[in-house]
Amino acid sequence: MTLHTAKRILVTGGAGFLGSHLCERLLGDGHDVLCVDNYFTGTKNNIVHLMDNPHFELLRHDITFPLYVEVDEIYNLACPASPIHYQHDPVQTTKTCVHGAINMLGLAKRVRAKIFQASTSEVYGDPEVHPQTESYWGHVNPTGLRSCYDEGKRCAETLFFDYYRQHKLRIKVGRIFNTYGPRMHPNDGRVVSNFIMQALQNQPITIYGDGSQTRSFCYVDNLIEAFVRLMDTDDDFLGPVNLGNPAEFTIKELAEKVVEMTGSKSELVYKPLPADDPMQRKPDITLAREKMGWEPDVQLKDGLVKTIGYFKGLL
Ligand code: NAD
Ligand code: UDP
Repeated sequence: MTLHTAKRILVTGGAGFLGSHLCERLLGDGHDVLCVDNYFTGTKNNIVHLMDNPHFELLRHDITFPLYVEVDEIYNLACPASPIHYQHDPVQTTKTCVHGAINMLGLAKRVRAKIFQASTSEVYGDPEVHPQTESYWGHVNPTGLRSCYDEGKRCAETLFFDYYRQHKLRIKVGRIFNTYGPRMHPNDGRVVSNFIMQALQNQPITIYGDGSQTRSFCYVDNLIEAFVRLMDTDDDFLGPVNLGNPAEFTIKELAEKVVEMTGSKSELVYKPLPADDPMQRKPDITLAREKMGWEPDVQLKDGLVKTIGYFKGLL
């Protein structure tokens, strides 16, 4: 006989792009989900379909302030993720990363919850090692426009490991590479949402720089599977572990693909490259394969079909 293993799970940033998919998944797995969000970049529209579920609870709260709840697991996703959003109020971004992590780690310590941190490939900065492995310490500008996010997330990782060493917390740190899919914010300035929105409206496709910079794009469903698997690994596996799809594309290739798939009349236009924009990014996912038996299987083309469908619905 198997015992019912429903857990009380807190998802911070649960009304955002990734958070809303995670809440949906955890409810589907039979858990009780507490979604905490201050709606800075997230929206109730992302989770409105979950609100009738008695196992789903929603709390408007800013994680830079302490939170007192009783839970078994915490997924800490709260933080604006797109450059225009996290640069809008950089001091608040650092506070969310650092004070937010301290508050959520403090909560985990009090209730002895297991805690996952949504870290990022940005901890590698503009990497000199390619593809990026977890042992690479990164090449990050500490004083630039992206630093509030990059250094904030690096400090959050430090805090997680210190809480592990000092307080024996059960921690899981996942370094997320560029992820896309339905419920991305249409105006968040990220490359996939920008290109699709521009293509669907026959507006110029804005390529920053010459478009030779690369990114590796993971479809959201694959990433959410990785979150859940990472949380379920043995307590002695802490990460950091890269979570992303190693298939690498230039930004120009992505633009051409989106134009072709939408049948758009848009032209490609070239704009200046933003400061500290990484030239290349591709995860080495050997560790995730080994420890979690995880491998993303959604091809860019298939993921784009679903994402384009979502944005069409919005227009
Ligand atoms: P998102 O902006 O859609 O979601 C972030 C959510 O956090 C939003 O709902 C926002 O309102 C909420 N939030 C922000 N500050 C908060 C605060 N102080 N208190 C409470 N809620 C707050 O972004 P996303 O793409 O879903 O990213 C989720 C997490 O994953 C972030 O931590 C991000 O850094 C990380 N990540 C995402 C990607 C990606 O490609 N999507 C890549 C690397 C890392
Ligand atoms: N980018 C672009 N045109 C856009 C938006 C982004 O060429 O309209 C580029 C951007 O300069 C970067 C890449 O696409 O090189 C990915 O940008 P995004 O903001 O999505 O994520 P990040 O830089 O954080 O990986």
